[in-house]
Amino acid sequence: MYDTIIAGAGIAGSVIARELAEGDGQKVLVLEQRNHIGGNCYDRADEHGIWIHQYGPHIFHTNNEDVFSYLSRFTEWNLFGHEVAANIWGTLIPVPFNLNTLYKVYNREKANKLEKKLIQFYGMESRVPILELRKNKDKDIVEIADYVYKNIFLYYTMKQWGKNPEEIDEAVTARVPIVISYDNRYFADKYQGMPLHGYTKMFENILDHPNIEVKLNTRFTGLDSLSEGANLVYTGALDELLNYKFGTLPYRSLDFKFEYYEQEFYQQNSVVNYTVNEDFTRITEFKHLTGQMIKGTTIVKEYPKAYTGMQEEIPYYAIENKESRKIYEQYNSIVKDLDNFYLLGRLAEFKYYNIDAMVEKAIELAKRMIQKKNHRRN
Ligand code: UDP
Repeated sequence: MYDTIIAGAGIAGSVIARELAEGDGQKVLVLEQRNHIGGNCYDRADEHGIWIHQYGPHIFHTNNEDVFSYLSRFTEWNLFGHEVAANIWGTLIPVPFNLNTLYKVYNREKANKLEKKLIQFYGMESRVPILELRKNKDKDIVEIADYVYKNIFLYYTMKQWGKNPEEIDEAVTARVPIVISYDNRYFADKYQGMPLHGYTKMFENILDHPNIEVKLNTRFTGLDSLSEGANLVYTGALDELLNYKFGTLPYRSLDFKFEYYEQEFYQQNSVVNYTVNEDFTRITEFKHLTGQMIKGTTIVKEYPKAYTGMQEEIPYYAIENKESRKIYEQYNSIVKDLDNFYLLGRLAEFKYYNIDAMVEKAIELAKRMIQKKNHRRN
């Protein structure tokens, strides 16, 4: 009855559903265990009418023209340069740490000297991961690296991951490098912002195709459906699918605390990171992100926590390291040679994908699946 069954209606599942349905005329069934589509990008109006991201802030950003024009078929955009501040004992400074930040932290004369050193070592426009900066032996650079490490990375990372920056995958802290320029934007990408009418609307449009059927509140139960001859694309957690037979894969989870205020704005920036104190990592104020004009404002505080695998918990971030990859490979070895079974997504692939990378991967996988099918036919 269906050519492909897809477990999960997040970015991965929705984009691949569209590609198979539209690009190959396949009949596609998307099963989603939640009562909504969009995965963790899901947004909605709260009880005050304020548009919120239920699972934390998702800011779209990409340099990939193909991904941008692909999504632009399904949404218009509110494009802006996303800027984040770190709250350091009550003072706000731009993050990523950049040359403007330098002048906020040090007096003019000193900042001038340190700026010259940074440019001399790394060159204008370069982006240096904190763990890389810490390797530099020059005493001025050591001073900056120590400041940035202690005031921006150490405590935030301890909260977010339960470990210090050296103990987690280097790629994680490298997402927010030290930037040798006067650019205060959080991301360097050409396109950044929000779907103008929200993520949920964008996903509705992606899934709105006569060959796609979506069933909400439906848990994908297992590999048995394979015998029915349909392709299966699984976007959920692999350890869960295989009944945790090699133990649990490690994730970090979050608690979100939403607060409403009867005032126009709560803070200056859409996102303020609390890098030296507080138990939450950051506060997001949605009106800054969505541009919504409405009375009152809603913010969310994010409290990271360990993921223990309880039913109501959500695994937001894969903890990638040698041991976890080993466990993942054990699971993967069971499914990787299955003929018509495919893994796609942050959970299924146990990877820290951004939205744009996920869209690209989903389009790629659809192409491969279609090629394989056509190859068989010939
Ligand atoms: N990070 C930090 N301080 C900051 C911002 C980021 O220590 O002010 C580190 C932290 O380890 C975090 C990682 O950099 O998990 C990646 O940050 P990003 O903002 O990309 O995380 P996400 O938005 O995906 O949660």
